[in-house]
Amino acid sequence: MNAPVRTPRRLESYVCGAWTPGQNEGPALLDAATGAPVAFIDSSGLDFADILEHGRKVAGPKLRDMSFHDRAGMLKALGLALMARKEEFYTESFRTGATRADGWVDIEGGIGTMLTFASKGRRELPNTRVLTEGDIEVLSQDGSFLAQHILTPLHGVAVHINAFNFPVWGMLEKIAPTLLAGVPCVVKPASQTAYLTELVVRRIIETGILPEGALQLICGSVGDLLDHVTGQDAVTFTGSAGVGRKLKSHPAIVTNSTRFTMEADSLNASILGSDAVAGTPEFDLFVKEVAREMTSKAGQKCTAIRRIIAPRAQVQALVEALRDRLGNTALGLPAAEGTRMGPLASLDQRQEVRERIRDLQTVAEIVAGNPDEVRVSSGDGAAGAFLNPVLLYADKPFAADAVHEVEAFGPVSTLLPYDSLAEAVELARMGKGSLVASVFTDDKAVAEQVVLGAAPWHGRVLIGNRLTAKTSTGHGSPLAGLIHGGPGRAGGGEEMGGIRGVKHFMQRTAVQGAPRLLSAVTGRWIEGAEVQHGVHPFRKSLAELTIGDQLITAARKVTLEDVEHFAHFTGDTFYAHMDEAAAKANPFFDDRVAHGYLVASFAAGLFVEPNPGPVLANYGVDNLRFLTPVYFGDSLQVRLTCKEINPRANADHGEVRWDCQVTNQNGAVVAQYDVLTMVAKQWPAAA
Ligand code: NDP
Repeated sequence: MNAPVRTPRRLESYVCGAWTPGQNEGPALLDAATGAPVAFIDSSGLDFADILEHGRKVAGPKLRDMSFHDRAGMLKALGLALMARKEEFYTESFRTGATRADGWVDIEGGIGTMLTFASKGRRELPNTRVLTEGDIEVLSQDGSFLAQHILTPLHGVAVHINAFNFPVWGMLEKIAPTLLAGVPCVVKPASQTAYLTELVVRRIIETGILPEGALQLICGSVGDLLDHVTGQDAVTFTGSAGVGRKLKSHPAIVTNSTRFTMEADSLNASILGSDAVAGTPEFDLFVKEVAREMTSKAGQKCTAIRRIIAPRAQVQALVEALRDRLGNTALGLPAAEGTRMGPLASLDQRQEVRERIRDLQTVAEIVAGNPDEVRVSSGDGAAGAFLNPVLLYADKPFAADAVHEVEAFGPVSTLLPYDSLAEAVELARMGKGSLVASVFTDDKAVAEQVVLGAAPWHGRVLIGNRLTAKTSTGHGSPLAGLIHGGPGRAGGGEEMGGIRGVKHFMQRTAVQGAPRLLSAVTGRWIEGAEVQHGVHPFRKSLAELTIGDQLITAARKVTLEDVEHFAHFTGDTFYAHMDEAAAKANPFFDDRVAHGYLVASFAAGLFVEPNPGPVLANYGVDNLRFLTPVYFGDSLQVRLTCKEINPRANADHGEVRWDCQVTNQNGAVVAQYDVLTMVAKQWPAAA
């Protein structure tokens, strides 16, 4: 069986608030497995300057009015709505050549990435519209002139030009961080598989969750769109290095210094450690991983293993094990039971891969598979873009230039022998920059040498061993929290990487000025900014609390008895608190000192308001530092200032961050930290 046959439809672009067909029917897009027409694609007649302007003018202000938490909530709602419709996407995905397992990576992997960004936005970003980064820089001795780095959303749009291999994930992994940043998106999917992206965008628009203009879609050529980008726009590109270089040097992008992120060809390597000889768990894991990376998505993954680097003594065993596994990979219709690998995306793509295999054959011999013979377990081997896996071997890897230059974007990989670990690292580097490398080893020295040697050439490095066999996410899986991108040939770009990915669509600005004005800009209390005294701030609900509400406590003396009691009560009888001679011999102390945790505990005793009230819980402290030793007889006093207020969107409480400074009788700061609390929005709670 395969995806049901249906009348091909004309794809439409979603631009300027309407689904819009091109003026012509355009070329047909064919089912990868059957060759049946699926859709027609054309974008002629669209006004590309208007599309950019629509995003900037209509959606930009609405997105920027929302806080990070609002936008994160929007992404969560969208992710859940898409997940509920996933089966429809799977059916369409079969037409691209993707099996159910391939579709899972694309569809649920993409939606999962969006949900991860939603969750990170809520947990790791404040509920504000401006992001602060790093510490305050003090620029004058009296503290009256300070600086703070802030990040604000670009006022343009992000144009995301995607490759054919991940029509869903490729879009969602890019729009999630962009929308979280507060920037509208224009997505241009690769034509070959655009019908799946179009379907997903239709469902997104139907939910009504995104403000109008936040997501536009262009099916077909982008025409003169790039002529109209400005310095407030961003362009991301995933695809071939040739097109990427052309777009990167587009006059408007160069003239306006438009941000350009590129993810292109990558000759990813996987290294079998010198310890991982045949018979070890690492050898078996390596074989499994290489075979999986070669066959999943029919090898059409930017992260797939293209170069297999192994000790020369293991080559024979490896070839046999891989030949066996690859030979048993059932190639057939993506939706058919028993199919392990589907076809390539198109007949053109298969032709392209066959030509690249011929390039590789100039320096390597085929040791498994035949690119010109198709063996399928289901479907019509002549009509679909089927290609059985091909394994090559280059006996002289340092002379095998083509292996380090040519990306055969299919189920193709080349085995390269090494005679020393240093050689293995050198071979990995010959890819001139890749998205990912992996090493399979259980030896700490091997792991260290390979990772440190290869890291500067890679955006991600995975270490595989027996302990992570079940838990590892695998060589080929980019993850929302981790950098996806690589230096050099891989394009030099960075995507995702958690909240870093959000910052790619924001401008970092150093703001200098007086504390109270900087505080007004960032919405965070800063040392030296205004404070208010009055009712104890722990008696105030979120509705009543304001930044700068401050409490100065009474003082409390620390005695020998306090320290002795605390030491025996907690069991912390560290010599610096208990042994006078040993404490005096310590370079940091003049005498026995109070425990830092005793200081923090006394501070809490000084600043809390004990009665039931709006403060619901203390959930931790940040950046705790003990700065000055506390000796017996010293007197402690606390200054507690409301620093940041983050109401939660879907709860009746929020987080409040308090600046807590503990000083001694001389005014020296003995401890400094942020106290983190949950505070009710209303108190008493509404009936
Ligand atoms: P392309 O570079 O041909 O296309 C990538 C995207 O760019 C597509 O959306 C394409 O649209 C668009 N595009 C092409 N020309 C222009 C242009 N002049 N202006 C604006 N946009 C343009 O890559 P493919 O997706 O066709 O893949 C081809 C090869 O790229 C693969 O065989 C593989 O080698 C490599 N590739 C590498 C990936 C990686 O991440 N390492 C991922 C995918 C591919 P359209 O489809 O409409 O032409």
